[in-house]
Amino acid sequence: MRTCDECSECCTVHLVAETNSPMWTPCQHKCDSGCGIYPDRPPICRAYKCAWLQGAIAEELRPDKWGVIFNVRRGSGDSWLDIHVCRADAMQTQQQADAVFAVAHKLMEAHDWIGRIQLFPFGAEKPSGIWGRPDEQQALRANIKCR
Ligand code: SF4
Ligand code: SF4
Repeated sequence: MRTCDECSECCTVHLVAETNSPMWTPCQHKCDSGCGIYPDRPPICRAYKCAWLQGAIAEELRPDKWGVIFNVRRGSGDSWLDIHVCRADAMQTQQQADAVFAVAHKLMEAHDWIGRIQLFPFGAEKPSGIWGRPDEQQALRANIKCR
């Protein structure tokens, strides 16, 4: 089973209401070793498991190493994959964008209940792109805007 170890990317990227941390702001409890209150971290932090932590993507794609967080989200009647680019240089070229979407496609193949992808560029609070299933994405790939 994987553990987050030195990664704490989600502690900066995501809004954590329980610790009054807005998006793109390091949580006040974040420290060099990860979480300074790990044994007492809020339930939302305990529950959060990005796709890497769940073992759904390759070992080398840990978010702090690659700069991208994949988060599969299951709602009532709607499920999707959030992609958060958490490092400025992680998705600047078409090649990087293609690599990100290749991983996304694999995830969608493995989880056929995922209906769409939402891409959050570095620093963005709202998605810059929302794509459907891979066949639909294929037609839209040319329009991917890299940052
Ligand atoms: S982004 Fe994933 S691997 Fe990194 S700290 Fe959060 S849950 Fe753990
Ligand atoms: S409380 Fe800990 S696990 Fe939760 S966001 Fe803050 S640093 Fe991360």
